[in-house]
Amino acid sequence: MPYIDPTSTIQKLEEMGAKKILLQLPDGLKPHVFDYFTALSRKFSVIISSQPFYGACDIGNREVYDDVDCIVQFGHSEIPNVPYPKPMIFEEYRQNRVVEFDPEIFEPIRKSGYSRVGLLASIQYIDTLENARRSMEKSGFEVKIGKNDARLNYPGQVLGCNFSAAHSVSAEVDCFLVISTGKFHSTGVQLSTDLETFLLDLNEMKISSMKQETERFLRRRYAVLSKAQNARKFCVVMDTKIGQRRSSLTRVIAENIREMGGQAVIVSTDDIRPSDYENMMCDAVVFTGCPRVPIDDWEKFSVPIMTPPEFQWLFGIKKQSRYIMDEIVTVD
Ligand code: SF4
Repeated sequence: MPYIDPTSTIQKLEEMGAKKILLQLPDGLKPHVFDYFTALSRKFSVIISSQPFYGACDIGNREVYDDVDCIVQFGHSEIPNVPYPKPMIFEEYRQNRVVEFDPEIFEPIRKSGYSRVGLLASIQYIDTLENARRSMEKSGFEVKIGKNDARLNYPGQVLGCNFSAAHSVSAEVDCFLVISTGKFHSTGVQLSTDLETFLLDLNEMKISSMKQETERFLRRRYAVLSKAQNARKFCVVMDTKIGQRRSSLTRVIAENIREMGGQAVIVSTDDIRPSDYENMMCDAVVFTGCPRVPIDDWEKFSVPIMTPPEFQWLFGIKKQSRYIMDEIVTVD
């Protein structure tokens, strides 16, 4: 079970002079809630939020954090270009064990004919990047770790909504290797760069290509989009979470819809619920918040739900020869 030691958090809060704090935990860390509360309550007045918190893009509602001195969020890495309204402490969850790589593990990449590899990791595995780079270079690969943009904290980092570290080296590599769990980050890298991407799962010590997974993903997305092609009435939904709020983009999409003769209503939410759009009787939803919502949760919706690039491709507003992943660069 993942665990983050609160000792350094306590020290940071003392240095800051904080008295009242709000603690936010992802579901995976909630089994430790009594330990965290006991440890922090010795020095501070603590409230723990029960919301799930999937990323540093979400710090909950103003009413909850208005009267605290600091928000502490465990598990995620700060998003540097988000204008947080309160002092924040992000305690990242990292797997920092030293991993020894058997050179054999990289064979699937070599067998596919690649020698120049872009290396990436989700925050949990960011400490293993340098070690993986050294092992790959010893095995004869040329390895690049890409520069992050202002939404990411580290070179080589990947988020479900940002692949900037991949874009920065995509012209110099043949393929990508992503150290992560689950397939979302690695399929996202393949879709956003159009280069074959491999997933390195450190629990299984196995590398697998995301080629077939990406094809399955595209089939699913095109099936959803085909249901939206005759849509005339759209809900264009802006998520008000601080790191997902793209109000300018929401207005652009609504304008696109009006220009093509459709009807658009702009809707704001901090908790997108399928029943809301059934009640509004729209033909389709364009969601400008977390790109994972339309992609992971589409089956919960009885109307087709799309990302902004999907909408703009489907209705010919932007010509593109291949699928474009939605990515968040900045919020407003
Ligand atoms: S917008 Fe989505 S993918 Fe991006 S950090 Fe937030 S939860 Fe993660």
